Parts: sequence; structure tokens; C-alpha cells
Amino acid sequence: MKKIALLGSTGSIGRQVLEIVDRYPEKYKIVSMSAGSNASLFEAQLNKYKPSIATFSCAEKVHEIKEVPTETTLYYGENSLIHAVTPECDVVFDAVMGYAGLNAVKHAIALKKPVALANKETLVAGGGLIMPMASNAGVDIIPVDSEHSAIWQSLEFGKRKDFKKIIITASGGAFRNTPINDLNSVTAEDALKHPNWQMGAKITIDCATMVNKGFEVIEAMWLFSAKRSDIEVVIHPESVIHSMVEYSDGAVISQMGTPSMLVPISLALSYPERLETGAKPLSFKNTSLTFKELDLNRYPCFALCDKAISLGGVYPCAFSAADEEAVKLFLQNKITYPDIYRLIESALEKNQNAPLSFESLELTDKLARATVLDEYRRIKC
Ligand code: NDP
Ligand code: MG
Repeated sequence: MKKIALLGSTGSIGRQVLEIVDRYPEKYKIVSMSAGSNASLFEAQLNKYKPSIATFSCAEKVHEIKEVPTETTLYYGENSLIHAVTPECDVVFDAVMGYAGLNAVKHAIALKKPVALANKETLVAGGGLIMPMASNAGVDIIPVDSEHSAIWQSLEFGKRKDFKKIIITASGGAFRNTPINDLNSVTAEDALKHPNWQMGAKITIDCATMVNKGFEVIEAMWLFSAKRSDIEVVIHPESVIHSMVEYSDGAVISQMGTPSMLVPISLALSYPERLETGAKPLSFKNTSLTFKELDLNRYPCFALCDKAISLGGVYPCAFSAADEEAVKLFLQNKITYPDIYRLIESALEKNQNAPLSFESLELTDKLARATVLDEYRRIKC
């Protein structure tokens, strides 16, 4: 029986983790769970899974959770999340959205708990601290993001390091066929219509801007000790090939499947064993797979992310924090789509590099968010 600490249980990934747990009650048990602000769903989950520990970040809404099982201790408030990283668990599944997930990973490593990592912002902001910490502690960071799961599988669960190139595929997001001139007037509602994947709102917007792929490049650099020049991104609108690895002899190994997060989620919990997940099987009848180059005129945020990568240090952290705030404003229909780029750019311009430490990440995160809000007020005047 694998005991799981599930962080972000009310989200798109969190709910799919629970689907897998429901499918294999003899293999998995939820010992702790955490949510941000969705009180009604969290209450229902608590009463179904009865974890020993529960955490809820939004202190203002905690009173909406009326019934807590007697076996559950509930912590709440902004800093409550790390209580869910409990010594009782065998694996921490981090499916929180955003920078909030990073401290939990740090804590899991300190407790020597393996981490199934969906929360990509942890590695984008703090990969330079988290990966050495994990490796020194002998703690596995298991990829959940579909591309990184595909790369991990193509590298024989990370046993091989002798790759020549990593090729990350990208669907192209909601605006892959939108005339570039029309991108000035697209709305959040348009951007949320992802052609292939059902995901949380923030990552769906990040797919439209291609910030998500920039993040995935950074994730791959940290997870597989790759240089930026070892990684190529290619548009693959069908999302059948989830990513690939090219070896020195010219062989290219890929992992394919219908677009379903159930597969990488399940594998992160069961590997090297593979379990039935309920994902729709892939059919090769009347299927064509196509690929094209990423157009930086369509996706300027990808180039901006590359700039943050080349600046290094705390710049990717500033980029990620600025993106979180800009996407929040866009989802509230307060800024235009091109403003996302402008706001992130302003945060990178204001950012000052500093030696990497958890304290400098904290300061960078705060400064980048404040810069985005200042810049937003300025452009609205
Ligand atoms: P969602 O927005 O659907 O869910 C996010 C989860 O995190 C929710 O449970 C939310 O709680 C919780 N949360 C948000 N803020 C906090 C906080 N401050 N403290 C504690 N919990 C918090 O996102 P997704 O499930 O789509 O994505 C989760 C992560 O996985 C992201 O990093 C994303 O990039 C990554 N990912 C997602 C994929 C997908 O298919 N969805 C694919 C690959 C990676 P609540 O809802 O209660 O507020
Ligand atoms: Mg992905």
C-alpha cells in the first residue's frame, strides 16, 4: 500500500490522481491532502478519503468547510501547505499550481520523501536549488508533466544519460491557427479553449502564449541535466508523440498515446510497473502525425523565456512569478493578450540578479509580482 500526500487535490491534476487512487484502492491510500480555495469540493474529498492531515490555504474561506472527518486534522492559512508533507507518506504528489508548490518540495526532500512533480513552477523558479538538494539526499523527483514523463520513459526511467538531443513536442495551444494580427484582440475565453488537453486555467493560458513550453524546457534542463542547446521544441498539433530522445547513433525513441494525464500520473506512482489507467487507446487508423517549426512571431513569450534562461540565476523565477500575476490579470479580463508579454518583460527589466538561495527566490518572486502590478496600473492610467 503506497501512502500518498496529495497537494492540490481539487485541481485538474489532483482530481485525476484521485481517479487513479479510486481505481486501485488496494494499492494506494491518501494520507494527507491540500487545497487552495475550493471549499465545497475539498470538503467532499475529505469525507471520502478521510486523510490524517488536510490543509487549506484560503483562511477567509475555511469556514465554508463544515464537516471535517474525526480522523482528520485540518490546518489552514497561507503557510499551511507544508503540514501536508507528512512523515507518514511514501510519496508526495505535488499538483499545486504556481510558486506555492516549491516549499513543499523542499520540505519533502528534507524528509527524504520521493516527489511526483506536476508543479512545474518549482523547477522553473528553484530547479538550481531543488535538484542538487534532491540528489544529495538521494530523493527521486519523478516527472509528471507529460513531456517529461515521455522523456523519462525514453531514457529508460532516467537510467540512460547518453542522449544527443531532447525533442519536446508542443500542441501550439489555442491560437496555433489564429492569424497573428488577430492576437491583439483575443480574450481569456478564447485562450481557454485548448484544442487537445483539459487542464487548469493558468496552464491553459500558458499553452496559448507558449510560456508553458518555455517552462518545460527549463524543467527538462533540470530533470535530465541537459543544456539549453541539447533541447529542441517542435510543434506537433496532434499531441500523440509526447516528446522524444535522440541518441548518438541516430535512433529516436518516443512515447506516444492519446492526450491523457492519467498515463503519466499513474506511471509516476507505479513505475516501473504499468497499470491500466482508463486512458483512451491510440488508434493508428486514419491518423497522420504532423510537425512544424515554432514561429517566434506567433509566440514571443517563448523567446522571452529563453532570454530568462540565458540570464540565469533568479531570472527564471522572476519570469515565472510575473507570468503568474499577468495570467491572473488576463483571466480577470483586466489586460489584453499582448499585455501578458509586456508585463513579464517589465518584470525581467526590473529584476536584479542575485546568488541563488531560497531567500533570494522569495525576494525575486515578490519583486516580480509587485512590478507586474505597478506596470498594470501604469498602462491602465
Ligand atoms: P489547477 O488550477 O486545476 O489546480 C491547482 C491546484 O492547486 C488546486 O487544487 C488549487 O486549489 C491548488 N492551489 C492553488 N494555489 C494554492 C496555494 N497557494 N496553496 C495550496 N494549494 C493551492 O491546476 P492544474 O491541476 O492544471 O495544474 C497543477 C500543476 O500541474 C501546475 O503547476 C501545472 O503547470 C502542472 N501541470 C498540469 C497539467 C494538467 O494537465 N492540468 C499538465 C502538466 C503539468 P483550489 O482549486 O482549491 O484553489
Ligand atoms: Mg506538459
